[in-house]
Amino acid sequence: MNHILYSVEEISSTIGGKSFVENPDSQIRTLLTDSRKLTDTEKGIFFALKGRRHGHTFIKDAYDAGVRNFVISDETIDRSSYSGSNFYIVEDTLKSLQDLAAHHRLKFSYPVIGITGSNGKTVVKEWLYQLLAPENNIVRSPRSFNSQIGVPLSVWEMNEENNLGIFEAGISRKGEMENLAKVIRPSIGIFTNIGEAHYEGFENTEEKIKEKLKLFEDVDTFIYSCKYLGEYAGELPGKNRFTWCYRDKADLDVFDDEVLEGKFQFLRARYNGEDIEALIPFTDQASIENGIICWATLLAMGYEPEEADRRLAKLLPVNMRLELKNGINNCSLIDDSYSLDLSSLAIALDFLQQQNQHLRRTLILSDIPGDTLDPLLIYEKVARLLENKSVDRLIAIGPHIKKYAAEFNVETIFFEDTDELISKLPSLKLANETILLKGARAYEFERISALLTHKVHETILEINLTAVEHNLNYYKTLLNPGVKIMAIVKAFSYGSGSFEIANLLEFNKVDYLAVAYADEGVSLRKDGITLPIMVMNPDVMAFETIIENSLEPEIYSFRIFEEFLEVLNRKNISHYPVHIKLDTGMHRLGFEEKDIVKLIGLLSETDAMRVESIFSHLVASEDESEDDLTKEQVKKFEQMSGMIKEKLAYPLLRHVLNTSGISRFPDSQFDLVRLGIGLYGIDSSNKEGSPLQTVTSLKTSISQIKEIRAGETVGYGSSGKMPQGGKIATVKIGYADGYSRALSNGVGKMLINGKQVPTVGKICMDMCMLDVTGLNVSEGDEVIVFNNEIRVEDIAKKINTIPYEILTGISQRVKRVYYYE
Ligand SMILES: *Cc1c(COP(=O)(O)O)cnc(C)c1O
Repeated sequence: MNHILYSVEEISSTIGGKSFVENPDSQIRTLLTDSRKLTDTEKGIFFALKGRRHGHTFIKDAYDAGVRNFVISDETIDRSSYSGSNFYIVEDTLKSLQDLAAHHRLKFSYPVIGITGSNGKTVVKEWLYQLLAPENNIVRSPRSFNSQIGVPLSVWEMNEENNLGIFEAGISRKGEMENLAKVIRPSIGIFTNIGEAHYEGFENTEEKIKEKLKLFEDVDTFIYSCKYLGEYAGELPGKNRFTWCYRDKADLDVFDDEVLEGKFQFLRARYNGEDIEALIPFTDQASIENGIICWATLLAMGYEPEEADRRLAKLLPVNMRLELKNGINNCSLIDDSYSLDLSSLAIALDFLQQQNQHLRRTLILSDIPGDTLDPLLIYEKVARLLENKSVDRLIAIGPHIKKYAAEFNVETIFFEDTDELISKLPSLKLANETILLKGARAYEFERISALLTHKVHETILEINLTAVEHNLNYYKTLLNPGVKIMAIVKAFSYGSGSFEIANLLEFNKVDYLAVAYADEGVSLRKDGITLPIMVMNPDVMAFETIIENSLEPEIYSFRIFEEFLEVLNRKNISHYPVHIKLDTGMHRLGFEEKDIVKLIGLLSETDAMRVESIFSHLVASEDESEDDLTKEQVKKFEQMSGMIKEKLAYPLLRHVLNTSGISRFPDSQFDLVRLGIGLYGIDSSNKEGSPLQTVTSLKTSISQIKEIRAGETVGYGSSGKMPQGGKIATVKIGYADGYSRALSNGVGKMLINGKQVPTVGKICMDMCMLDVTGLNVSEGDEVIVFNNEIRVEDIAKKINTIPYEILTGISQRVKRVYYYE
């Protein structure tokens, strides 16, 4: 835990380039790559990575937070504004980060397991951690830190107290694995599988495998399945190889499998000339394979089959999500109660710090397991984290952490065990605060979580915030330099919830938000959102509210102009930001060509308003057959807005593109784009395959299962016919939740235990029925209404509408649950 301290000389000789040292005695132990997530700044080194946003912009933020060591690639930075700092100027800051981690790696000679493959890397890593933890002190990648940046940050956590490392590596294009191989240098290699994964930037499977195998060039032992590499024509790595397969020649030949009690997978295999067996407490196909990979790894590492079996039977589910839920007494709850170590604590605290909906932040934390580490060092580090991450209160559980009470500079309350906390819960008066739950397994924090969470109607809309961030970053890559982003969060962010999404967007530094009505903007202000917010449909009655809440109205007609001007004049306000809407063909709201001259006159006469932007909306930006119309609209917009821009003597922004406009008309970005549905994972201009990630999943559950005899009917109006009879499941979602009646009688399909099943009969207000004939399902089973497999786009098409209507139609009684992956 006591990380090696690096001197300035060692750093500069490792990463090369030119060094400008003003602070030769500083010592370094923490790598920093994100100016929004800084810790241990005095001993930190900040890498200005060139990404979507240029890292150099954030040097000032890092400097103000106390960082004094910077790796940069831009020689023109004015170093004199950062006195007392060391600058290392290199060609490629990412490469320097990797070089430094590779150098750190070489200081340790204990075994390191490297994992790659298309799927399952994180689960296999976490399971091996569970399986090997009893006799090892393991350092591993936090969450799924497996990228060009994530791997060096993970390997940097290696220290002398560990005796085993487990790291995963993921790549998206050719040439990347060599970099990661140098950083990880695995002695044991695990290749999980190879999938049809698209967007991996490879010509074919052969090439993809070849690239991935570069991780393993120097391993002693290579573990893989003939199922995935049996046909591979290239050379396989490893001095020793350990193979597994189903009913085929392999070191571990799995020849029999059987599901027990619906909960366990019983496996038998041929190994070393004997029949051996194992029980895995999961029954889905992916978990079974991941389990077999772990089984093979234990055997390859020399564990006895009996011991491997005993350990595998105790595998626990891996939940890599950070869930944000509504709690009791207006609290927000971040539930990350499945495991606890320092690196995952740091990540969860970052997420806590990002939450601005309440003034107060509380951490409920258990003792941190780790027998061989010096507890004083651990809790010192925890104390430092709490200060850096703006935690106001620590509620700690367990006999050890209590002993280090003196280390903490925040309000603290200690409990002996979880039972004691539960019995004293009311006296803690948890209210109006954000609470992070972080406990080791043994402390059963799920019991605390259950008490702090609202009981939910069992239909929930899950929102993947990581996917929103991914989608935002994807669109950023499509923008020309300097083009700003206005994120559209109208209609509860297309049904995904307003504050949570807006907060994420603010954190990711979009430039503007837009809502439809003033009320939506007011509620964002109440929750602490400070970004500029455009109101697209400002009501005259709401002008006072708009001004009080610093919202920026869209001015679309002379009537609105006059009325708003009057309010501004009455209040003696000048230069109030407004947005001018032009009608270039939608024929909805906006000034037309004939109005422009008069509008220019009015705008020049007053200084009560300042035109922040001029914009127009496209009629059919997603539709190729309408491209002439779109181009005509853009041309008209350019002319009309150009006239206004020319006459007003100050800078203003122009914008016309919505989501599919951004994808399809890169030449018409002007100064800003308005990104709506693409953020939420949908862009109808992506004809084949989408680079977006699915954001929302709608889930419900089975209330009852019934056998239907031949000829009986199901539901209102007897329209649900089952001539052969069969079995139906009644599920807790109806048209009042937003599941359209048009999906009645087999038009709609839902997913139960991985199988698509059709609706039977009419969709009712609060329920509907599914045909589950021949399926092994139970009451209480989860039912997926839509996700990345049953897509919102497909549902919309079936009932002749658009995804926008489906998403915004999910009623507010359906609870929203947010999570980070
Ligand atoms: C809703 C809306 C958008 C966003 O459109 P998407 O297709 O969801 O990106 C942009 N501009 C205006 C004026 C809108 O009303």
